[in-house]
Amino acid sequence: MKLERFPKNIRPYLVPEPYGRMVYRCLKCEHEFNIETLLYTCPDCGGVLLLNYKNKQHNKKIDAKKWRDIFDYRKMLNHQALRGIFRYYEFIAPIIPLERIVYLGEAHTPLVKGNNRLKQKVGVDFYFKNDGLNPSASFKDRGMACALSYINHLAAKENYKSLLAICASTGDTSASAALYASYLENFIKSAVLLPEGKVTPQQLSQPLGSGATVLEMPGVFDDCMKVVELLADNYNVALLNSKNSWRILGQESFSYEIAQDFDYEVGDKAIVVPIGNAGNITAVMSGFLKFYEADIIDRLPKIIGVQSEHADPVYRYYLQENSEVFKPVSVRSSVAQAAMIGNPVSMPRVIQIVKKYNKIAGEKRVFVVQVKEQEIMDSMITVNRNGNIACTQGGESFAGLKKAVNQGYVVPEETAILDSTAHVLKFSIFQDMYFNDNFTPDFDVKPKSELKNTPVHVRPEGFSRLSGNGSLPEKKEMGLFISKAAEKIAEILDLKKR
Ligand SMILES: *Cc1c(COP(=O)(O)O)cnc(C)c1O
Ligand SMILES: [Zn+2]
Repeated sequence: MKLERFPKNIRPYLVPEPYGRMVYRCLKCEHEFNIETLLYTCPDCGGVLLLNYKNKQHNKKIDAKKWRDIFDYRKMLNHQALRGIFRYYEFIAPIIPLERIVYLGEAHTPLVKGNNRLKQKVGVDFYFKNDGLNPSASFKDRGMACALSYINHLAAKENYKSLLAICASTGDTSASAALYASYLENFIKSAVLLPEGKVTPQQLSQPLGSGATVLEMPGVFDDCMKVVELLADNYNVALLNSKNSWRILGQESFSYEIAQDFDYEVGDKAIVVPIGNAGNITAVMSGFLKFYEADIIDRLPKIIGVQSEHADPVYRYYLQENSEVFKPVSVRSSVAQAAMIGNPVSMPRVIQIVKKYNKIAGEKRVFVVQVKEQEIMDSMITVNRNGNIACTQGGESFAGLKKAVNQGYVVPEETAILDSTAHVLKFSIFQDMYFNDNFTPDFDVKPKSELKNTPVHVRPEGFSRLSGNGSLPEKKEMGLFISKAAEKIAEILDLKKR
């Protein structure tokens, strides 16, 4: 809709101008740093950073009702830069000029209500938010859109001629980083570092297809992360892991969308998120906190973090009653491979934000549950047999909700929103392993016969030499072959003649 057709009182707010100032702030020593340099850890104490606004009073001038109107009307506005995560421009990065924003079709992913059969399995109403419908087929695009928009802005301002962007990845970060970097091909090149054999073929094909330099090394994600941290500390590279706090900002859009899609009533909602490097759960909590502080929502939803038994350092941390010590774990093979992380980079952020979240809510609102590999796989297959497109981590969300309901963290009056973090097709290899019963013992997964599904090979009688593998009947026998095939299929499907 054209600007002049919007109500007069809302028009001046719809296309925002950059304003204010942002700084990096260290979580540990609280020192602040200029955002004109690319920083990932505090130069003074090595702590992790978050981005802070120096102009909160600007946002205070707009009341909650006005904010809701701005976002709701912006939904109808045809402006490329404001179509994705930057519908919430003022709450993400209001210093980036709109012409520097990179939009590749990310965000505003659908909420799909679980059908009755699935609802009965968990005991509460729930929706999947399908973040697998982002351009690189995972939620990582939300953060990457923000990080690359900022780099694009900085490059123009500081006249960068070339920049190498690098990340370690369990698969999806690299797919996303390579995609967004390839869009800015004129000055940015990307390199991704993957744990050899620990990403799916689809995930490996993504950065290759985007033209990135793909590096694979032995080890698990945590090892790759240490290597890129060393590189970012010692060389002139842009780090695109979620240690990069611009990524966290972009991922907050997930929460803003949920708030908006439920007409800003989220007090009776529970958001279920799988935890790997813990950037996502940090962003989800941070997003709701920001909307709460601006009165846009009047209650905070519950947050349920989910971890696999094979990679559960965050779950273990919250199991302890008093000790504040975080202990990394050694991960074991997990079908939730994108979350197979033993030493989450954002753990210090999580520890701080969880405390703040519970304090502001006035009660415990954040819970972490643990699920088995078997439960993750059974859940993934089950939900997809009910019209969804969940990846293994989406299955983990479903298994996590079940657990949270069993433990009383989520009650029947509440509605859950499950983060379906990537598209099923990225992780179909685990579905294949399930259907073919060839998980190696380290996964601890045995397929349930009622959930298995394999192709039925049709072999019409009298054509035994056609053993498959592309061998075709001869032209003259084609007619007979077709009718025999139809007969065979009718027999397999037990069809009744009319
Ligand atoms: C990255 C990722 C996760 C884990 O998110 P963190 O921010 O690392 O906690 C979960 N699922 C998918 C599909 C991912 O790509
Ligand atoms: Zn510091």
